[in-house]
Amino acid sequence: MNRIVEGLIVFVAIVLIILGAIFLIAGGAQNIMTGAVLVLLAVVLLFYNYRSQKIQAAKPTLVTQNFNVKMEGTGQTERKELKCRSCGATLSEKDIKVVQGGVVITCPYCGTVTTLEESPKW
Ligand SMILES: [Zn+2]
Repeated sequence: MNRIVEGLIVFVAIVLIILGAIFLIAGGAQNIMTGAVLVLLAVVLLFYNYRSQKIQAAKPTLVTQNFNVKMEGTGQTERKELKCRSCGATLSEKDIKVVQGGVVITCPYCGTVTTLEESPKW
C-alpha cells in the first residue's frame, strides 16, 4: 500500500478517535452511541493499516527466500568458489562478507582470508 494512503488512514483514524471522544464526553445515549461507532471505525482503520504494514514487512523475507533458492539452484558452480584455498574446507554463506564492494571470505577452520576481485553473480 502507498505510504501516503497509510498516513491518511492514520490521520482519519486519529480524527475519528478525537470526534468519538468529544461525543463520549458530551454524554447522552445518542452521543455515546455515535462516539462508540466513531472509535470503533478508527480501530478498524488502524487494524487494517497495521495488517497492510505487516504484509509489506513480510515482503523482503520472501525476496530473501527466493534468493536462497536461486543460490541452491546454481549450487554446482558456486560450490567451487566456496572452498578455502588454503585447507580446502567447504565454506558456507555466513563466511562471505561484502566489504567496500569487494567480497571477503574468511575460513572458519584455518582463518585464511580470501578476497574475490570479481563481483559475484548475485
Ligand atoms: Zn581454510
